[in-house]
Amino acid sequence: MPTRPGLMRTVTETGLGSAPVSPGGTKMTCLIAEDNMINQNLLKKQLIRRGHSVLVADDGAEAVKVWETHKEKIDCILMDLAMPNMDGFDATEKILARIRELEGKRIPVIAVTAQAFAGNRELCFEKGMDGYIAKPVDINLLTSVMEEQYERYEKVWRERRGG
Ligand SMILES: [Mg+2]
Repeated sequence: MPTRPGLMRTVTETGLGSAPVSPGGTKMTCLIAEDNMINQNLLKKQLIRRGHSVLVADDGAEAVKVWETHKEKIDCILMDLAMPNMDGFDATEKILARIRELEGKRIPVIAVTAQAFAGNRELCFEKGMDGYIAKPVDINLLTSVMEEQYERYEKVWRERRGG
């Protein structure tokens, strides 16, 4: 085994390093909340490769903090569900409650999760999430859901602000 396995190696070996660059889609700043460092780094690389900017949080509690600090620039949240300290459901609930409290612009929260248990999908929507993507992540699907939901909220926000 090499002494410097590194993440790039993992990315290359799984073949996920070859995702095409998004052709002029909306460039977003995404907050990734994910406690698995391999998944976190992989998703980060895939999004950066497509021209998006990325902030990361290692659990739900950190996601709430990072969002609070950088809320002016975060356009989208990709939320793992099973995380230590605070899970993705509670973190989503807290962030969405804060947005309502501040009367801020709603942003998409998309669950990115390996959990395939029946009921999770419904619980995600119940908690206010806007999408549900299973791992391993299909980056084309994820980015299209991100952009679609982002545009939807952007439109609502513009209308609310009077055009
Ligand atoms: Mg997890």
